Amino acid sequence: MSEEKSLNFLEEIIEDDLKNGKYKSILTRFPPEPNGYLHIGHAKSICLNFGLSKKYGGKTNLRFDDTNPVTEETEYVDSIKEDVKWLGFEWANELYASDYFEQLYNLAVRLIEKGLAYVDDSSAEEIAKQKGTPTQPGARNEFSNRSIEENLKLFLDMRLGKYRDGEKVLRAKIDMASNNMHLRDPLLYRIKHAHHHRTGDTWCIYPMYDFAHGQSDSIENITHSICTLEFIPHRPLYDWFIEQLGIFPSHQYEFARLNMTYTVMSKRKLLQLVNEGHVKTWDDPRMPAIAAMRRRGYTAEAIREFCDKIGVAKRENLIDLSLLEFCVREHLNKIALRRMVVFDPLKVVITNYTDMTELLKIEDNPEDENTTYREVAFSSGIYIEREDFMEIPPKKFFRLFPGGMVRLKGAYIIKCDEVVKDDAGNITELRCSYIPESKSGSDTSGIHVKGTLHWVSVKHAATAEVRLYDRLFTEENVADAEGDFKNYINPHSLQIVETVYMEPCLHEAKFDERYQFIRKGYFCLDKDSSEEKIVFNRTVGLKDTWAKEAKKS
Ligand code: ATP
Ligand code: MG
Repeated sequence: MSEEKSLNFLEEIIEDDLKNGKYKSILTRFPPEPNGYLHIGHAKSICLNFGLSKKYGGKTNLRFDDTNPVTEETEYVDSIKEDVKWLGFEWANELYASDYFEQLYNLAVRLIEKGLAYVDDSSAEEIAKQKGTPTQPGARNEFSNRSIEENLKLFLDMRLGKYRDGEKVLRAKIDMASNNMHLRDPLLYRIKHAHHHRTGDTWCIYPMYDFAHGQSDSIENITHSICTLEFIPHRPLYDWFIEQLGIFPSHQYEFARLNMTYTVMSKRKLLQLVNEGHVKTWDDPRMPAIAAMRRRGYTAEAIREFCDKIGVAKRENLIDLSLLEFCVREHLNKIALRRMVVFDPLKVVITNYTDMTELLKIEDNPEDENTTYREVAFSSGIYIEREDFMEIPPKKFFRLFPGGMVRLKGAYIIKCDEVVKDDAGNITELRCSYIPESKSGSDTSGIHVKGTLHWVSVKHAATAEVRLYDRLFTEENVADAEGDFKNYINPHSLQIVETVYMEPCLHEAKFDERYQFIRKGYFCLDKDSSEEKIVFNRTVGLKDTWAKEAKKS
C-alpha cells in the first residue's frame, strides 16, 4: 500500500465543511483573466481547484475574469480552454464575468440604495491623496455627502455614457480610517469607453476586480474561492460585500503562488519577452507557458505530478525548476520510444561485412514490459558519434579506440583496425571489422566489451534539425534580482544543431509520440517540421546536469 498523504489545509477545511453539513457538495472555480497565455503557476491553480472538486465529488467552473476590456482578447480565451483541457480537466460551466455585468450593476445600485456607495468626481490622484497612508487615516470629500437619489441618477448617467473616462467613479462607503487600505472607500466602478471582446460597446462602465470577482463567486454559488496570498488583505472587503448585499456566502482562501527558479511567472513579463523578441512566440519552448511546455514535449501527467509534489503552501517559496524537469524525465522514461540519433557523425566502414543490408529487431522501450520492437537497418557503412572515438584514449575510456572493441547497440561487436585521416590530419573514417557471432540476442562470441555505442546506417539515415534548450534566465531568483529582469536573459538558451542523423523510422515520427534519443535526452517533434525538414525539440536531458555542476563547484 502506498503511504497515506496527510491532508493539506484546504482539504482539511473542505472535509470539515462537508462533515458539518455546511455544504452538500463543493464548487470551486478557476478564474483566469484572458490577457495572456497560462503559465505553470496557473497550472498549479488549475490542478488545485479541479483536483479538490474531483477528490470531493464536486465541480469546478471555468470563469473568465474579463472585466478589463483593454487588455483582453478572444485568442487568449481559446488558448486558456485548450490548456485546461490538455492538462486533463473538465469544467462544469464555461462562464464569463462579463455575462454578469447587468447583475453586478444591480448589486451596485443596491449598495447605493443602502447608502453604502457614492459617485465621486475626484481625480485618481485626489482619491489617492485623500486615502491617507497605512499610518494616517484618510478623509472623505464633499462628494461622499451626495444623497441616495443623486447617486442613483449619476451612476445611471455614468452607465449611459454621459461622462468621459476618469470623470467619475463609484466608490463603496466603508471606513476611511480602517487599518486596511482596501476598506477606505474602495472603487467599485470606473468609466472606460472601450470595446469589450464579448459585450462590445454595450458598456462604458466596468466593475473593479474586487467588486466583480467576489460577486461573481456569489452569483455562481462558489463554496471555496481559492486565490493567492496577495489577496489576503482583500478578504475583509470580499466579506463586506457579501454581508451588505446578503448574497451567497462564498469564502475566500489563500495559498502561496508558485514561484520557480530561472524563470518569470507573470503574464505581463512574459508578454514583454514575446513583444521585444527575446523569444519568438508565447509557445516558444523556453517559455514557462503551458502551451510552450506542451510544445517542448512536457506531458500533462508530469505537470500534474509536479503540482502534486510541491503541495499547497501558506508561505511564499521558490520551487526548483529541476523538480519539474525531474517529473518530466520520470514520466518520459516510462513512455518514450528509444531511438538512435548521431549528432556529430564519424563514419565507420565495416570491412568484413559484405555489402548487404540486415534488418535488426531492437526493442522500443526496455522500461516497458510490453515493449514493442522496431526494425533498424544495419549496413557496412555507419555513423557513430565523433566523441565516442579517441585515438589516444585516457584510462577507463570504454568507447572506441585503435585496436579496441565496442558493441554497437542492438547489433554486433566491432573492432577498430585502422584510422583514416585527410591531409590536414583530421580523422575522416574508421575501418573496423565486426564479429559475426556477436549479434545482440544471440551472442556466442564469448567476448565481453564494456562500451555500447549508438549508431546509424549511413545509407538509411534520415536527417533532422534539433533544438536544444537551456534555462531562459541565468539568475536563480529572477523576480527578486536587482534591476530589469531582462538583464538576466540567458543568451545561450537555444542551440540549434542543423543536421543530425537518425535511424530511418524517425522519418515517420509522430507529434503525440515521445522519444528518447539514446544517451542524448528526451525529444519530441516540433510543429515547425515540414515535408522538407524534420525538427525535434529536446524536452529534457537524461540527467540533471545542473545538479552535477552545483556539486562540482
Ligand atoms: P499573472 O500575474 O501571471 O498575470 P494573475 O494572477 O494576474 O497572474 P489570473 O489570470 O488573474 O493571473 O490568474 C488566474 C488564477 O490563477 C488566479 O486564481 C490566480 O491566483 C492563479 N495564479 C496565477 N499565478 C499563479 C501562480 N504563480 N501560482 C499559483 N496560482 C497562480
Ligand atoms: Mg490577474
